[in-house]
Amino acid sequence: MGGHEQNYVEEAFRTNWIAPLGPNVDLFEQAIQNYVKQDVHVAALSTGTAAIHLGLELLGVSKGDEVLCQSFTFSASANPIMYLGATPVFVDSEISTWNMCPVLLREAIVDRISKGKKPKAIVAVHLYGMPYQVMEIRAVADEFEIPIVEDSAEALGSSYKGNNCSSFGDIGILSFNGNKIITTSGGGALVTKNGDIKQKAVFLATQARDNAPHYQHSHVGYNYRMSNVLAGIGRGQMEVLDDRVAARRSNFDFYKSSLDNFEEVEFLNEPDGFFSNRWLSCILTPTYEIRETIRLALLEEDIESRPLWKPMHCQPIFEKFPNYVNGISEELFQRGLCLPSGSNLNSTDLERVVTIIIKELTR
Ligand SMILES: *Cc1c(COP(=O)(O)O)cnc(C)c1O
Repeated sequence: MGGHEQNYVEEAFRTNWIAPLGPNVDLFEQAIQNYVKQDVHVAALSTGTAAIHLGLELLGVSKGDEVLCQSFTFSASANPIMYLGATPVFVDSEISTWNMCPVLLREAIVDRISKGKKPKAIVAVHLYGMPYQVMEIRAVADEFEIPIVEDSAEALGSSYKGNNCSSFGDIGILSFNGNKIITTSGGGALVTKNGDIKQKAVFLATQARDNAPHYQHSHVGYNYRMSNVLAGIGRGQMEVLDDRVAARRSNFDFYKSSLDNFEEVEFLNEPDGFFSNRWLSCILTPTYEIRETIRLALLEEDIESRPLWKPMHCQPIFEKFPNYVNGISEELFQRGLCLPSGSNLNSTDLERVVTIIIKELTR
């Protein structure tokens, strides 16, 4: 926590706003809008997953539709496609950002159309905080007039050509889950440049209650709004977001400068115009075996590290769905490792990690 969160939480208690609406919700949304800029409207929700679900529904995805989804991601990018009874179609990554490959995306769209169905939406992800190729993906989406859900769950504080992530999609989403760069313990947001879309998102997120004195419903609704208590945590967290980004980037810089001499360790650099919040610091090793050697040596010292995300097209629940792959995400999964990346790591912690890795590489 940054320090002021408890004041805002206490404010909720003092004023008795213990509900999924209230001043903290409004002011948290305002703080995100001020941060992201680009005249966005923000709806604070219970989770990032809920935001993707509402986003897809608001873009018209329904039963039987196909939705293109980055394969190299966390399952929460794809699960909401299933909630809607739609079919995920997975698209592999390119090597410069590890995110959705625009060339493969185009091939996938052309092929899906030739098979008789035009995909209804694209879920593109800024994985580990690195922006995807924003312009190239947008160009393909526009060519075929397919809207984008921009999964920025890991990328609050990241930007592309000076503009903040979550402002590029037809709908953007954020997550404030406990593991993200800032947190409300659990929480998310839908980000849109269209005020009507925000109103519709809030309507669906609050049980789709029609305007009437009694309870009247003509839509299926959800209970997806953020609690006013948790939004208080969010207000305090927004005050320290820039510090968190600086801390995460400093972790990355330390790992990179300490390990750069070893040809067995590769880092993902920021292409020109890309700014990553470096949510997690990741390395690529030459082989699965070397990756595992490092992971197990760290584990031996009670230090947790984790393989990169296992691609969705390789997951038991998703492997039966269509996919357009080039081997890149599978390679990243085999050879990649997320190092300890918390904003509260001190230089002793970081030294310990690096010392263990160097010991393995020089044995
Ligand atoms: C965390 C995460 C989500 C889901 O957010 P929740 O708030 O945990 O529901 C979606 N996509 C990605 C890439 C994530 O990392």
